[in-house]
Amino acid sequence: MKILKNALCMVAIFSLQSVTSIAQENPVSVDNDTMKITFLGTGAPRPSTERYGPSILVEAGDHKILVDAGPGMRERLFEAGGFEAISGVDHVLVTHLHFDHTVSVSSVWLSGWLFGRRVPLHIQGPVGIKDMMENIERAYQWDVDYRIMVGVPKEGTELIVDEVSDGVIFDEGGLKITAFQVEHMPINIETGNVLGLRGETIGFRMDYKGHSVLFSGDTRSTEKSEINQVGKGVDLLIHEVQVPSPGATAEANLANVSMSVHSTPEQVGHVFEKAKPKMGVYSHIIPPGTTAEDLVKGTRPYYKGPLTVAHDFMEITLKGDEIIVGERVKQSDGKFEDSNVLAK
Ligand SMILES: [Zn+2]
Ligand SMILES: [Zn+2]
Repeated sequence: MKILKNALCMVAIFSLQSVTSIAQENPVSVDNDTMKITFLGTGAPRPSTERYGPSILVEAGDHKILVDAGPGMRERLFEAGGFEAISGVDHVLVTHLHFDHTVSVSSVWLSGWLFGRRVPLHIQGPVGIKDMMENIERAYQWDVDYRIMVGVPKEGTELIVDEVSDGVIFDEGGLKITAFQVEHMPINIETGNVLGLRGETIGFRMDYKGHSVLFSGDTRSTEKSEINQVGKGVDLLIHEVQVPSPGATAEANLANVSMSVHSTPEQVGHVFEKAKPKMGVYSHIIPPGTTAEDLVKGTRPYYKGPLTVAHDFMEITLKGDEIIVGERVKQSDGKFEDSNVLAK
């Protein structure tokens, strides 16, 4: 296995051990066997112009799938791939129903349709996603009726929504997606007991033509974490992380309340060590101003393997036996008249 780093993002890579460092020209050529992961947003609920809300674009063969759709997703997706990307995503995986993971699902649905998607949008998520999508459909009924009335084709407005839990949830065109439960439900901090709220929080593993990527979703790390098993030996293990905010300001207190349902770098270090991915990757970084050095410092005592701290627009390509870390080339023009989306 080789790990290649684009010269442009050298600053984002730390302490890779036993890896090859070769500057790559962008874009990396893609073929049908390649899997490409683009970090559209690497932040969390707190607004940040550096780290948008959590959303990751996965491209594998003909598949274009979003894992979560956080704040700012639509603009990032547009920059990443223009109208073809906006209209080309027809599948969304939702890890859980927190707003920072779902607020842009309506954008994927409606922007994708308005700008050319003519197939249903397929959404898979935990218990509760059907209610959420039915309510979103009701909320935008007027908009949909209006646009159909003035000539936008009806095709593409349909939603296919699956509530999923453990097991294989998708297996088509060489891509297999497995869902598994993670621990992110609210707990009583004193007793550790899970509080009674309906629903689940899930993570996903994708396997495509010999490549494998695990998305932790939001989770506190525990000894029993499913990720240790499901993520065993994956190419990329993409994990959330939170570092405590110092002091006792209102903001620090608010941030630290969530420490019980997220994972510190030390805890993730144990997960990486147990699962032994070819590369551990941090995304969903709380607070967004956390430096890569802070994350690496906390992780290193427990995990010595390749470690990358993602930033918005980082792109990781799995090609052959290589892991190529680079930058997404932005589509700065994105003119609709040059787009072929309506020809689809
Ligand atoms: Zn979150
Ligand atoms: Zn969450």
